[in-house]
Amino acid sequence: MYDSVIFDHDGVLTTLVDLSLLHDATWDAFDELGVTDPDPDHVERMVIHVTPADVHAVAGAYDLDPETLFRVRDEIASAAQKEAVNDGRKVPYDDFDAIRRIDAPMGIVSSNQQATIDYVLDHLDATDLFGTAYGREPSMTSLHRKKPEPYYIERAMSDLGVNSPLFVGDSDSDIVAARAAGVDSAFIRRGHRADHTPSPDPTHEIGGLDDLLDIDGVPVAGGPSLTDEETTQ
Ligand SMILES: [Mg+2]
Repeated sequence: MYDSVIFDHDGVLTTLVDLSLLHDATWDAFDELGVTDPDPDHVERMVIHVTPADVHAVAGAYDLDPETLFRVRDEIASAAQKEAVNDGRKVPYDDFDAIRRIDAPMGIVSSNQQATIDYVLDHLDATDLFGTAYGREPSMTSLHRKKPEPYYIERAMSDLGVNSPLFVGDSDSDIVAARAAGVDSAFIRRGHRADHTPSPDPTHEIGGLDDLLDIDGVPVAGGPSLTDEETTQ
């Protein structure tokens, strides 16, 4: 049996924002720091999949402090995503409520900003659903800790007091991080992953959060879901 379920957030629990929103936020971060005409390639390197080497190289080109560049980038990206939550561009998936039937501690481990995760949970009135919820702190240290590193999964397991969670994610980095933490993974094939071949192989593949309830070993309140035929007997 799994003793808990830990979720990635974006693309699993809530819909993805349009990439243009994150591009715009990154341009705004340069502007905020007084760089009004940055090289578009430099902006691009700061949008997603940012590495510490990216931050150092880009900050160096404009004589900016790397930590400051990254913090401002994170703050503006988070603010933009909060706006998207407020006006309905970033919403929970239709099957979100299925996880309320899971009869085990639940957590979140996201590579989004901690401020974004906290805001979404508050907005959805879902804070109490999760025993722990990690995003990244707005510092470059978090770039060394985010998935595919197991750091935040291990911290979540410690917070929840569990040792055999199922980790649910929509990216290869989720599966790698779960493996590194020594736990099983479920790849959720949302629409944006229709043609994706997960690598490495996840333990399970599901089409939505409803399917979690049918995975052997996931504790479900009231037992496994019944088919119509079973229900009528
Ligand atoms: Mg994701």
